[in-house]
Amino acid sequence: MSGPVCDSGKLMPVDEAIARLLDKAPPPPPVQKIPLEQCLGRVLAADIHSPVNLPAWDNSAMDGYAFKAADLPQAGGYLSVVGRVAAGDGEASALLAQQAVRIFTGAPLPAGADTVVPQERCRVEGERVWCPPASVGEHVRKEGEEIRHGHLLLKAGKRLRAQELGLLAGAGVAQVEVYRALRVCLLSSGDELREPGEPLAPGQIYNSNRYCLAALLRGWGVEVHDYGVMADELTASRDALTLASSECDLLLTSGGVSVGEEDHLKQAIEELGSLDFWRLAIQPGKPLAFGEVAGKPWIGMPGNPSAALVTALVVVRPFLLRAQGVEEVLPLPLAVPAGFDWLQRNKRRQYLRARLSPGADGQLSVELHPQQSSAMLSAACWADGLAVVECEQRVLKHDKVRFLSFAELMH
Ligand code: AMP
Ligand code: MG
Repeated sequence: MSGPVCDSGKLMPVDEAIARLLDKAPPPPPVQKIPLEQCLGRVLAADIHSPVNLPAWDNSAMDGYAFKAADLPQAGGYLSVVGRVAAGDGEASALLAQQAVRIFTGAPLPAGADTVVPQERCRVEGERVWCPPASVGEHVRKEGEEIRHGHLLLKAGKRLRAQELGLLAGAGVAQVEVYRALRVCLLSSGDELREPGEPLAPGQIYNSNRYCLAALLRGWGVEVHDYGVMADELTASRDALTLASSECDLLLTSGGVSVGEEDHLKQAIEELGSLDFWRLAIQPGKPLAFGEVAGKPWIGMPGNPSAALVTALVVVRPFLLRAQGVEEVLPLPLAVPAGFDWLQRNKRRQYLRARLSPGADGQLSVELHPQQSSAMLSAACWADGLAVVECEQRVLKHDKVRFLSFAELMH
């Protein structure tokens, strides 16, 4: 799947740019202890050990009858039904030999019982129940079988999703130590930009990056501080950056970092901090600037909407996740057969807007949108991910290509 060795000239390979950025990622924000219900998307600052056994006691996994397996003949047989225990009931009285209780899912197993048989396999006859053969422990959730008291429940560096919140709640954890949300400044650069709803004069366009990038940032769990558009003028750029750096942990801008551009953003950054300019072997994308403003990391992304989107998803995302304290920051690509030929050899690694589509045999293949321009977003709206074609690589239909799903990249 990997293409021939790439000679991208002075272009920096994407993986190198990501590694460099991760190296420069700032330490995560301060730790705070907050209620569980506010923890969605936040990052655990410390390991959590379970304060309880899970389950806390032996209980039934079925609606049925509970008894001691050794009491039942090998071919099944009759037991006398001596009680009933449902979820939420306290401890039932202990069973004697040849006794069973009617039991419901989640109810505690009475002492003396070790096995449950589902009700649909039993036959009730008056005070007795006939139960089929059963092996010891069947349909019983044993105390501590999921996790034992004191054992690791979740590791520091984990971003909390719905299932982690559920697990913590299930263990009775009400307050969690997480990192404070990362405050990220978002600024757009370009005098041509107007906001949707405003009239456009000749030469003007609508600001699309502001909305697209803010949405990405929110999906990654950061607190977005949107400063709108910075006028392409030195004093205004300097003022906007100074204000943003005083209020945020990290700064992101889009536009104004292309080579040879007549703009003031780079000059303002150099005056306020430092600037490093990279040309990445990525398409869409290429220009990427990294530096700091008054001690706060800054990333300057390309202005073209699709280039901004892809650069943000591929290069900026790992950096922002790491700056939030997340341990696992790189997406896991799927290897999927290509439903296309890609015959042109490129100096840059391609991140093509693509879709998984099932064939007649049910097998998935990757399809490309025909319009892969870096200025246009329609392809990304049609797509549900990015197909990666290495620089200099040719792809023939059915070759495996890497596919990065938006579902993963946008969270
Ligand atoms: P730049 O990187 O500033 O040279 O911009 C490259 C291209 O992207 C130009 O066509 C800009 O008009 C366009 N562009 C820059 N910023 C934005 C934005 N926020 N929304 C939409 N297009 C933009
Ligand atoms: Mg510009």
